[in-house]
Amino acid sequence: MSDKKLGLNTICTHVGEIKDEQFKGAVSPMYLSSSYEFLDVDVKRYPRYFNTPNQEFLSKKIAALEHTEAAMIFGSGMAAISTMFLAFLKQGDHLVVQNTLYGGTVNFIKEEFPKYGIEYTFTNGYELKDFKAAIQPNTKLIHIETPSNPLMTITDITAIAKLGKSNNILTSIDNTFASPINQSPIDFGIDMVMHSATKYFGGHSDICAGAVASSSEHIERIWNVGKNLGGSLSDMTVWMLERSMKTLGLRVKAQTKNAMKMAKWLDKHPKVSKVYYPGLKSHPDYKLAKSQMKGFGAMLSFELTDDLDAYKFQKQLKLIKSSMSLAGIESTVISPHLTSHALLTQEERDKVGISDQLIRFSVGIEETRDLKLDIEQAFEKIVNRK
Ligand SMILES: *Cc1c(COP(=O)(O)O)cnc(C)c1O
Repeated sequence: MSDKKLGLNTICTHVGEIKDEQFKGAVSPMYLSSSYEFLDVDVKRYPRYFNTPNQEFLSKKIAALEHTEAAMIFGSGMAAISTMFLAFLKQGDHLVVQNTLYGGTVNFIKEEFPKYGIEYTFTNGYELKDFKAAIQPNTKLIHIETPSNPLMTITDITAIAKLGKSNNILTSIDNTFASPINQSPIDFGIDMVMHSATKYFGGHSDICAGAVASSSEHIERIWNVGKNLGGSLSDMTVWMLERSMKTLGLRVKAQTKNAMKMAKWLDKHPKVSKVYYPGLKSHPDYKLAKSQMKGFGAMLSFELTDDLDAYKFQKQLKLIKSSMSLAGIESTVISPHLTSHALLTQEERDKVGISDQLIRFSVGIEETRDLKLDIEQAFEKIVNRK
């Protein structure tokens, strides 16, 4: 049976397993060798060549999930994205990149690109016309992120893929927030998909990793740069990532279901002035999200009413933790104005719509009843203290 025909949870559980021929164990053996036979072998294996058995096989699971020919696993999401960028951009080339973007990616572009003589333009918005306007004769890559952090804006994946193809420009997407469970960008014509595997792929807040999935041709190009940059992941962690990914479908589906329930509940709550979740009909891009996502994801943001202090609110939560990271099975919250967007001025934050009242919510697998009770008791404490 071809891997392509398998259902989602079967891919999560079985694709890329290493058969334990020696002892017939149920799970993939962990190969920790950093030294492999060199003479008369087909593959010269070495950890930084991204081709140890655990790396090679787990890549097959990621490729199957993202509907690509090949994939590569990295030591972090930033190792994945920086290697991908440097594989397709050289001195004098130009990158068009969405304005609403993961903070680390913004830093990488702004701090490192000038050193390599690579040019870039951040779009003014996330609509097709904004990307069109940013293209130059030397543009080689368009990079998007959807849903984006923290306001869950939705970019039209098909339109961007077409724009790239008609201008002979490659396209890439950060698919971290949706995960392949909720969004398959390759099916809409995008060339390369990257992930912070620290998030949903890992899912238990105990792994830092990254991944890129694409055609064999593109992955080979990324490999050529990756072996020089050296951002591979240790096989111990690759093995842990494989274990985590067996439940990726189950986890993300449960989290997505919970997020929809929480978004609807928060939307009606008198202490919440606004909810940003692509699954709500009130979201400006609801229709677009519905057309390109299989589920609306488990990330949302909401604004507290002006009389409430967002910091105090987070301090009063008991079950829901505050965390800079996201996507674990446990629910977490964070103030974007104190973290990802702390370096912007108040004016810049106002312009992109990130108020001090905004809370980003990564919804976990807990019972929504308990999450609601936790939020309710935090509201009560800070309201009564006023
Ligand atoms: C966390 C994150 C990254 C960076 O991944 P690391 O594993 O922290 O290097 C990139 N993109 C998005 C959307 C993220 O959330």
